[in-house]
Amino acid sequence: MASLESALQSWQNAPGFDKQAWLLAHAQSAPVNIRVNAQKNVQVNQLFPSLIGPNVPWCSNAFQLTERPSFVHHPVWHAGGFYVQEASSMFLWHILESLNLSKDGLHVLDLCAAPGGKSTLLASYFTNSLLVSNEVIKSRNAILVENITKWGGNNTVVVQNDPAQIGKLQHFFDCVVVDAPCSGSGLFRKDQDALANWTEEQVFHCQARQKRILEDIWPSVKPGGYLIYSTCSYSQEENEDVTDFILENEDAKSVSIPVSDDWGIVVSPTKKYQGSSFRFWPHKVKGEGFFLAVIQKQSTQMDYSSSLSARKIQSIPSKLSILTKQMVSNTDEMHLFNEANMIRMIPTSFLAALEILAAHVYIKKAGVALGEWKGQSWIPHHEFALSGAVLDNYPRMDLNTHEALQYLMRKDFFVEGLQHGWNSVWHEGLCLGWAKVLPNRINNYYPNSWRILKDI
Ligand code: SAM
Repeated sequence: MASLESALQSWQNAPGFDKQAWLLAHAQSAPVNIRVNAQKNVQVNQLFPSLIGPNVPWCSNAFQLTERPSFVHHPVWHAGGFYVQEASSMFLWHILESLNLSKDGLHVLDLCAAPGGKSTLLASYFTNSLLVSNEVIKSRNAILVENITKWGGNNTVVVQNDPAQIGKLQHFFDCVVVDAPCSGSGLFRKDQDALANWTEEQVFHCQARQKRILEDIWPSVKPGGYLIYSTCSYSQEENEDVTDFILENEDAKSVSIPVSDDWGIVVSPTKKYQGSSFRFWPHKVKGEGFFLAVIQKQSTQMDYSSSLSARKIQSIPSKLSILTKQMVSNTDEMHLFNEANMIRMIPTSFLAALEILAAHVYIKKAGVALGEWKGQSWIPHHEFALSGAVLDNYPRMDLNTHEALQYLMRKDFFVEGLQHGWNSVWHEGLCLGWAKVLPNRINNYYPNSWRILKDI
């Protein structure tokens, strides 16, 4: 409790803080929210017919649930039909809409991306832009790849780099989101460890890291482009002070965004430069603690992005291309390429950008893995099934909830009357993956490391 008392003491002057109201809010459980994947045509009323509460006011397709169901036993969650996300952090949607950023043709970076809450939101907004989603920590990067894969789409590239390395992509990004590692006080209600570990030294340690991350990534923002900085900390040292640091040291200006008074969001001017920023307090909003500020790079600089070096990404040989196109529909606007024997595709309009990325950063997943040829045999990849690509070259099996859960647990299951060979596996209109139907059994190709471990 010593850490709670010193934390409360340290926020005394933070705009919007009210100790009694804060403590009262922390005696209640955190609201549960989901954001529905509009690209997968999911109907929220069919998902949780009796649990749908109010909309999250600042984000489209987002809802509060009246209680927490077992998400892990909901096949639609595994199919990327919805993402469970804290409501305050969905405010990013309102920012993108207010900035009126084009959904097409931009380069967008999510620098601190795992597990993928902001990235899946960005992927839903920027439906026809290139999203680069970075996570520097290897184990967390694997979770990011999983969540991005489930969310689908073909225009995301997942990378694993230190911010300083990505910063070498000078003037490459129109919009950079830095959801920085922080002391985590905004999540005290959900995360007891964050409370137990809170110290003032840790706040200053986080501040130093946040400043370093922002300085490192700043060169990659295009002149006129935006940097969106957020944390889930209440400490001014990690929030307004870090925003002031960038306004002081870089060719940067603060951007103010209108918000509705009804939302309970506190508009907080930074101390030194009166930059605009937003605070979310659980006693004022139906969400957890969150901070966000928008900064724009002054546009007087020269744009260096055209001089970035690139690494050529070859097309696959024409014979392989003909064979692969028999397995994959709608490839007209796609570039097919081979990476470590895996055939992948990315919209041709992003090929030049991918070639620049390939020369500078460590790519974990580019576009969609379609599958591989082993001799004459084609083995389709799980990413292909979840991407939302048309799968009409394959017979399809539709599973009920029980069968779908058996499939997701990677257990044996049996369905009558199927065509032999590769089948796409579906549940309630969403593809879950692949299975191979043999004369006497069905081979389950759900990825082993993603299988549901908990039996119902
Ligand atoms: N944006 C994520 C979301 O919405 O799901 C949450 C990101 S979390 C607040 C911060 C992330 O930054 C963590 O995944 C962490 O591994 C990563 N991180 C830690 N140290 C970092 C560093 N020095 N540079 C960049 N990212 C870092």
